[in-house]
Amino acid sequence: MSTAQTQQKICSEWNPVNKNEHKGIWVYVELINGVIKDGSLQLIGKARELAGKISTDVTAIMLGHNIGDVVKEPIYYGADKVIYIDHPALEKYVPHIYSNVIVQLATKYKPEIILFAATKRGRELAPYVANSLKTGITADCTELDVDPKTRDLDQVRPTYGGSILAHIRTPSRRPQLASVRPNVFPTPPRDPNRNGEIIVETIDTPPGINGHGLINVRPVVKGEELPPVEKSDVVVVAGRGVGSTDGVKLLTELAKLLGGTIGGTKKAVDAGWLDLDRQVGQTGKTIRPALYIGVGVSGAIQHVFGMKESKVIVAINSDPNAPIFEYADYGVVGDYREIVKELIELLKNSRSK
Ligand SMILES: Cc1cc2nc3c(=O)[nH]c(=O)nc-3n(C[C@H](O)[C@H](O)[C@H](O)COP(=O)(O)OP(=O)(O)OC[C@H]3O[C@@H](n4cnc5c(N)ncnc54)[C@H](O)[C@@H]3O)c2cc1C
Repeated sequence: MSTAQTQQKICSEWNPVNKNEHKGIWVYVELINGVIKDGSLQLIGKARELAGKISTDVTAIMLGHNIGDVVKEPIYYGADKVIYIDHPALEKYVPHIYSNVIVQLATKYKPEIILFAATKRGRELAPYVANSLKTGITADCTELDVDPKTRDLDQVRPTYGGSILAHIRTPSRRPQLASVRPNVFPTPPRDPNRNGEIIVETIDTPPGINGHGLINVRPVVKGEELPPVEKSDVVVVAGRGVGSTDGVKLLTELAKLLGGTIGGTKKAVDAGWLDLDRQVGQTGKTIRPALYIGVGVSGAIQHVFGMKESKVIVAINSDPNAPIFEYADYGVVGDYREIVKELIELLKNSRSK
């Protein structure tokens, strides 16, 4: 190995870290209106697997106000411990307040790994925490592993437009921070008979917010409410080939008849036909429905990345050479308008019988 590979450059402004002082895997468990985000539960499952490889425990971190019984949920999904802080200052999520509290906890307990679901909140919070703890952060991972010898976290994420997978490590700093896209790992089964330790922490004075405060939180008002793409068992995805919002409307009708929801490729979202939160793929949501139907979708790698775990993949495309057919269990070649209209008729007729 060359000298360049063996030397580790350490920032002169950062104090060296004693890696042996840091133990345990933490998962920041995101609570929104009293409900835990699925991405956090999925991370508990993955953390459990990693913890087994380095013989350590899994701790869930929960922040909020009037948290109630939901505090036990991470244990049911595989955590050994929950550390939670219940304080009026934590009722609404404010990034610098939440990160300040997590940093205080991490400084006290010294975990070796902290995982965040790469939700809007997780993507914002994790770098705040990493910056204060003077450590690295790998955002948007799609796989994690751990080296049992060095205890270094192998943080895998697509890069260069998804053409390669980068393996990133943080060998000289602790804790190691990573955010992971929701739905790349399955949600572990819930076992209400599991036991674990619940630790209540307190903050005497709410962390300073430098004169800034949260005045109000207003949910975004959306038009037609269909389930989110990551929560539906049937997802009909509109690609650029559907041509317009009229095409999306037709596909929405099909999705509703199948009890599912509508999603889109980046091209369909960029065209303004669908909201960004319906985008499936590398820079959108990762989905694993029982049935995926891609209509007018070419099957670019960045899109496939977000849907390849679907159980049954159906592709409708006018081009018999479209790459999507390489991934499809069932393919229909032709103009989508005729095919989708016929499918809708078939479904309606079968219901009226
Ligand atoms: C860094 C990066 C991140 C990206 N992230 C994402 C992501 O998260 N999600 C994503 O989807 N893409 C993403 N992309 C874009 C991706 O590379 C593709 O450009 C995109 O997925 C293509 O979308 P599409 O299949 O809708 O359009 P196109 O590639 O234009 O394909 C349209 C398809 O429609 C078919 N078609 C046309 N007319 C009809 C018809 N009448 N009936 C049936 N079929 C028809 C055509 O044959 C064609 O195959 C990303 C790209 C980059 C560089």
